[in-house]
Amino acid sequence: MNSVITPKDAAAVILLRHNTNPRDPEVFLVRRSEKLAFLGGFHAFPGGQFDEMDAEAPVENCPNAETRVAISCAARELFEETQVLVARGGEALTQGQRASLLDDLQSARVSWPSLLKHYDLHLDAGDFTFVGRWVTPPFSARRFDTWFFLVNSPRKQHAYVSGDAELASGEWIAAGAALARWQRSEILAVPPVLHALKTLADGLTDDLDKRFLASPNALRQPVRRIEFRPNYICFPVRTPTRPPATHTNCYLIYNSAELLIIDPGSAYEDEQQALAACVDSLVAEGKSVGEIILTHMHPDHVGGVNALRAHLGESVRVAAHRLTAESLAGSVSVDRQIEDDEVIRLEGSPEIALRAMHTPGHARGHLCFYEERTGTLISGDNIVGLGSVLIDPPEGNMREYLQSLERMRALLNVSVIFGGHGPAIANPYSKLGEYIAHRLEREQNIFQAVREGAVSPKEIVARVYTDVSPKAHALAERAVLAHLEKLVDEKRVRKTREGLFVLVK
Ligand SMILES: [Zn+2]
Repeated sequence: MNSVITPKDAAAVILLRHNTNPRDPEVFLVRRSEKLAFLGGFHAFPGGQFDEMDAEAPVENCPNAETRVAISCAARELFEETQVLVARGGEALTQGQRASLLDDLQSARVSWPSLLKHYDLHLDAGDFTFVGRWVTPPFSARRFDTWFFLVNSPRKQHAYVSGDAELASGEWIAAGAALARWQRSEILAVPPVLHALKTLADGLTDDLDKRFLASPNALRQPVRRIEFRPNYICFPVRTPTRPPATHTNCYLIYNSAELLIIDPGSAYEDEQQALAACVDSLVAEGKSVGEIILTHMHPDHVGGVNALRAHLGESVRVAAHRLTAESLAGSVSVDRQIEDDEVIRLEGSPEIALRAMHTPGHARGHLCFYEERTGTLISGDNIVGLGSVLIDPPEGNMREYLQSLERMRALLNVSVIFGGHGPAIANPYSKLGEYIAHRLEREQNIFQAVREGAVSPKEIVARVYTDVSPKAHALAERAVLAHLEKLVDEKRVRKTREGLFVLVK
């Protein structure tokens, strides 16, 4: 049984500019570094995980212990990431003094609670308005239970992101303008950030905190329908997939008139019903279901196709690559074959045109879909937001897989990758580069092992996969076999009549 990751406590600050326009308030929006494993490249608010010492810092006028820790964490993270110190008594400090305090804190010369105490600074709950707790959906390997606080930036303090650590940049931007950038597909944001921008864009009204808390997701109910980018809903469904993944992403791509559904993968009835309800709500808005489209034939990507078709009516067509259709014959019937380079256009607006790319390697009939206008790449299992991609022969083919990755990397304008598992990838070219480099490094090590006399996948795994637990060795052997087959194709290694792999002399 796959275990779902328990969320870790975290806090974030929605920082409002001092004396901002209440009708169109400015917030401090940061861009996470592309190097970060979790949501690298996303736009967000300053924040981070609770630190052990956060609980030691007193917070005045705070009703309960849990909130106290969250406020302490929020204030510390804000200070560390933006140099803005929200503490009473801090008004007397100069910019230079704050910088030196920050340096002491970051170099661990002084702890957060002792820093506050030493300079007679007081955190006050009145400065931190609670506006929700959001839990990362269970499709992610890293999950957080994040407290959000609305905070007015103190007078005379300049928010500043150094750009060398977790955050790449930061800027003051009107909430409405930030929202417009998201709507133009220029930035990516997770649901709580989007919710905050939408809520603030309606102005700093008297019922502002109520509007923040009106969403059940702001009260820790995990989000099901995730719209990292407008018109692309990521709807993760629980599937019997390969750990660490526990869910497969179904994508609902829609515009004013039409809706496409990619990979309804869950074989579980409760998950099928949740997905059907989401599809129904889009249909109720007047969109008609175009097709159900499959990236490839694996059970965790097709497990819910028949149920969804039964729900929507048999007139809904299923489309996939010919090789996928052949593999699925007898279990899922495919009505239409999708060719390489074919363009699937949605009726209605905005214009959405998905170009199908036959990208074998993980599976023979694997398709990716690329939408050029916004640079959106739906990658199926070729690139995933968590875990690794298994290349298991004969369905899997390492040579083709690397060619497929290169073909994806050669696209000119990719701004996001929507993978078959895990969160969206906002640093597509670094990720593609990483994937290719990782496989080539493995290949080099495997070739070296053969050169040193290892003759079977089992022997090679023992030498090369020293970082992998013995439980995973059977799968590693499949991956090694895929690499060996590539080396055989390239005539660098040959297979003897006894089935041993040896160097070509
Ligand atoms: Zn797969």
